[in-house]
Amino acid sequence: MKKVSLLIPFYNEQEVLPKLFERVKLLVDSNLDYQWEVMLVNDGSVDNSLCMVKQMYLRDNRFRYIDLSRNFGKEVAMMAGLDYVTGDCVVIMDADLQHPPEVIPDMLKLWEEGYDDIYGKRNSRGKEPWIRKKLSLLYYKLLQKTSHVEVLQNVGDFRLLDRICIDALCSMRESQRYTKGLFQWIGFNKKEILFNQEDRVAGNTKWNYLKLVGLAIEGITSYTTSPLKIATVVGLFVSMSAFTYMIYVILKALFIGDPVAGYPTIMVVMLFLGGVQLLSLGIIGEYIGRIFNETKNRPVYFVREIDGEKCN
Ligand code: UDP
Ligand code: MG
Repeated sequence: MKKVSLLIPFYNEQEVLPKLFERVKLLVDSNLDYQWEVMLVNDGSVDNSLCMVKQMYLRDNRFRYIDLSRNFGKEVAMMAGLDYVTGDCVVIMDADLQHPPEVIPDMLKLWEEGYDDIYGKRNSRGKEPWIRKKLSLLYYKLLQKTSHVEVLQNVGDFRLLDRICIDALCSMRESQRYTKGLFQWIGFNKKEILFNQEDRVAGNTKWNYLKLVGLAIEGITSYTTSPLKIATVVGLFVSMSAFTYMIYVILKALFIGDPVAGYPTIMVVMLFLGGVQLLSLGIIGEYIGRIFNETKNRPVYFVREIDGEKCN
């Protein structure tokens, strides 16, 4: 019998967990052709979530849990889960039930047909502010234009991955993870499946605009080096124009003479060049920061407890 793992990272989800357990149990009990494992990854919750998960584990041993040592963010929590799931395939889903478990049997059908990576594509983005929708659209366009790997719109982390994909993902140990990019980067036989994203059942989203901007920069800098190229091109263009202008100024001073002090021109040129330099430095700094973080070569996360057993 094939084993299917569900991977659910959670962070302060005490309001939704009871509903999640109910829906997942329903799914698991109605698909007895597979052996199930529900891997719940506690990403440093500070509410009652972990306690509830532990109780669930004691009641039903198909539910397992990993307790991370602190909040590492969803991307890392997913990685921890992937490291420990034992299934022949894994389905990653959110704890807030925005990813309906009812879609999973259809994913399994496609998996049986031989696809390795079945990703859920949102039919609608659910209730979201208009500006957030527009911004995310713009962002994807930008990312697509500047990178070689295809970027999929309206595709999140809701997906089924075959063991072959799990092993591939586990072999990529970078600590600043942009999972969306990684899923795409590993390749394999992909297939999309449409689903309606529901609204969050309860509780609040863990994302604010600041965090989203962070994720966006993360995405760009881990996906492509084209900002560096843009900085080079802009630098080249600016220095060429500056050079031409310099020749013009020299010739003018030589042949016509320049009695006026020329303060405004100098100011304008200086400020402009200073701005371009700062911008380029910032872009380079962004990449150096990533190099710095990766060279420390730290473990990506620490586990405190797995299924009731303390980890050393
Ligand atoms: N999550 C997590 N660690 C975090 C933030 C979120 O494991 O630091 C989990 C969260 O519990 C949920 C999933 O990631 O299961 C998606 O989070 P959320 O619903 O807040 O994001 P959104 O759906 O708004 O993108
Ligand atoms: Mg959500």
